[in-house]
Amino acid sequence: MFAVGITGGIGSGKSTVADLFAMRGVPLVDTDVIAHRITAPGGLAMPSIATEFGPSFVAHDGSLDRAQMRALVFSDDTARSRLEAITHPLIRAETERERSEARGPYVMVVVPLLVESGSWKNRVDRVLAVDCTVETQIERVMRRNAFTREQVLAIIERQATREARLAAADDVIVNDAVSIETLSREVDALHRQYVSLAGT
Ligand code: ADP
Repeated sequence: MFAVGITGGIGSGKSTVADLFAMRGVPLVDTDVIAHRITAPGGLAMPSIATEFGPSFVAHDGSLDRAQMRALVFSDDTARSRLEAITHPLIRAETERERSEARGPYVMVVVPLLVESGSWKNRVDRVLAVDCTVETQIERVMRRNAFTREQVLAIIERQATREARLAAADDVIVNDAVSIETLSREVDALHRQYVSLAGT
């Protein structure tokens, strides 16, 4: 099925925009949700994580001890690569499975790190980037997550730049000081375009 990958930096509004597509009957496959599920109790990634990193990285309920793993990979790029070597193939496989089961005019795959993790761009037919200024990202995430400005900036610095994201995108929704009504109209126009592309 025709697939649109939606991406954007933290706080850009990609979940908000993806939900507007979902309201129009577009099935969503969210790679963040899948990443969380495979590391939940009994999750597909947990046996390999326990083997590779040891039982201290598994919480009592059988899920990933996220605080412990975050602390490790924050300062250790090799550990991050070892973790991703386990999780990325599983996320890709689960995404493919959900895509093949999705029913609708086309499917939308939510990939926050589409630009960062090279191969995603080739796995979708079209890339939609949700864009806003860094200042807007900071304001939104400080409000949403009760983070400090420095915490938000540290996350943004690890993500692709706006320019890199825009360069990879076929379509862009600008989401700075935009009302939900305006966003909805833009989503309507893109939705029509995607339905038409999916049918050809
Ligand atoms: P992302 O998924 O890219 O991290 P979200 O869609 O969760 O971003 O948006 C971040 C926050 O900003 C949320 O609390 C959301 O409700 C709010 N938000 C996003 N876009 C708008 C907008 N156009 N107007 C008002 N609030 C918005």
